[in-house]
Amino acid sequence: ERKICLSVVVLGASGDLAKKKTFPALFTLFKRGFLPKNVAIIGYARSKLNIKDLRATIAEHLKGASGDVSRFLDLIAYLPGSYDSAEGFQGLQAVLVTREQQYGMCPAGRLFYLALPPSVYPQVCKGLKENCSEMAAQCNSWLRLIVEKPFGMDLASSEELANQLGALFPEEQLYRIDHYLGKEMMQNMLVLRFANQFIQPAWNRNFISNIQICFKEPFGTDGRGGYFDQFGIIRDVMQNHLMQVLALLAMEQPVSLAADDIRDEKVKVLRCLAAVRPDETVLGQHTAAGSQAGYLDDPTVPKGSRTPTFASCILRINNERWAGVPFVMKAGKALNERKVEIRVQFKPPAATIHNNSLDAMRNELVMRVQPDEAIYMKMVLKRPGLSVEPIVSEMDLSYKQRYSATFIPDAYERLLLDALRGDQQHFVRRDELRAAWAAFTPLLHAIDAGELTPLPYPAGTRGPHEADVLAAKAGFVKTSAYVWKDVSFW
Ligand code: NAP
Ligand code: NAP
Repeated sequence: ERKICLSVVVLGASGDLAKKKTFPALFTLFKRGFLPKNVAIIGYARSKLNIKDLRATIAEHLKGASGDVSRFLDLIAYLPGSYDSAEGFQGLQAVLVTREQQYGMCPAGRLFYLALPPSVYPQVCKGLKENCSEMAAQCNSWLRLIVEKPFGMDLASSEELANQLGALFPEEQLYRIDHYLGKEMMQNMLVLRFANQFIQPAWNRNFISNIQICFKEPFGTDGRGGYFDQFGIIRDVMQNHLMQVLALLAMEQPVSLAADDIRDEKVKVLRCLAAVRPDETVLGQHTAAGSQAGYLDDPTVPKGSRTPTFASCILRINNERWAGVPFVMKAGKALNERKVEIRVQFKPPAATIHNNSLDAMRNELVMRVQPDEAIYMKMVLKRPGLSVEPIVSEMDLSYKQRYSATFIPDAYERLLLDALRGDQQHFVRRDELRAAWAAFTPLLHAIDAGELTPLPYPAGTRGPHEADVLAAKAGFVKTSAYVWKDVSFW
């Protein structure tokens, strides 16, 4: 792997994603020794940037020893060029070919990272295909493209984009990034589910009452509402990130850990999803409260916008394992806390010998994806001491304590490394995307047509009360009398 002439081209190098995520992730890989010796990072965008300024902007987002930072910055070059004419891409090709000839004995790798708005993907991919895909014919040379969401606005537009890209590059060269797939807890899912014998037999409708997949953010759009408003919370978070969570939670065991075996199973379960129903959906839009502005107060948001900043809906999987188990997906901005978690709520025991009803004392397996990864199982135990009363306690794994010395990489770092290694396991295949859009498109069209009204909720709260009513309808019971005692600092 080290003996390769690697060129990473960041298209849209002048932009926000490039400086906040792409370059910093490359830096981490560099300083940890994951990049080959013969590597160059080439920024490409229309802006006439001078390399000194670009490096200075990038440096602001790098954390590390100054020697590492300066060696990394030295690897970066910048080439201004347009996205829609051959000229710029020919210049890029010349740079790439010169490098590859210089290291003529090595195979070459070209990774094109499209940190660009999707509106220019087709023209950029065409430019790359026509001008930058001829490589010196060394065996083991490769060319790959990483593309960023949003992949369309609905099923039809997503398919159109996929057709345009698919006509230029085969699926094996396209890496659709969904950074949730790079998160520790997501990567843990197949191990947790398929390597623990006590979980395997219980992971189905016989034992599980309902599953909650929840994303909460404490801030609103902060002046980026113009961008958000075209999409809304469902397209921004649910159709992509939370849908990937659902697929990993619900899929059958894959034949192997090979990328396509895993993705085959994800597609299979996603295709079993029924279209999300408007009458099983609650939408919200936050209003001003305390020091937080309301969504409509953001000057970049169109007046009177009905775009949801909160949504909760029930997803139903029509297969033998999950029939009758509602998956409640909830996401919102300007809520009371920041967290992403999965809550698998088990059914209560059918009969009880205890005086209390155990209905509100259910086993719950909680996987906290962020912040502070944790897995805990709520257990019903005897109250310690003289009492024999059942109470809710927990079996708890807090990563910070248990794995305090372990480096947990950022999602982008992991995914970039996977792309460099040619592993598509954690990238979204075209048919997965299609199935995910199919489940949400009818609802999104109904929302776009103004058929659903977002309910107002004050910023800093848990969102509209109606979402709790919906969760209750799905069988969710808030466990009672559970008191968490954080012993991590004792
Ligand atoms: P951005 O800053 O708006 O755009 C990146 C670069 O693309 C700009 O610097 C600009 O470069 C060029 N560009 C912008 N608008 C253009 C237009 N209409 N036509 C042609 N070129 C244009 O975008 P970003 O925030 O970096 O995001 C890039 C991609 O990543 C998007 O698909 C976005 O949805 C996705 N994404 C971003 C984030 C994030 O944190 N920012 C997170 C997840 C996903 P030049 O003018 O110099 O050519
Ligand atoms: P919780 O934050 O009390 O919430 C439990 C569930 O009840 C969530 O789905 C929550 O929804 C819902 N809920 C909250 N208020 C509600 C209401 N008024 N009506 C209906 N539903 C409501 O979580 P928990 O699992 O019981 O844990 C309690 C605390 O202990 C949490 O702060 C947790 O982080 C902490 N804890 C930490 C660890 C660890 O770090 N290892 C282990 C165990 C517990 P929303 O998510 O939408 O609010």
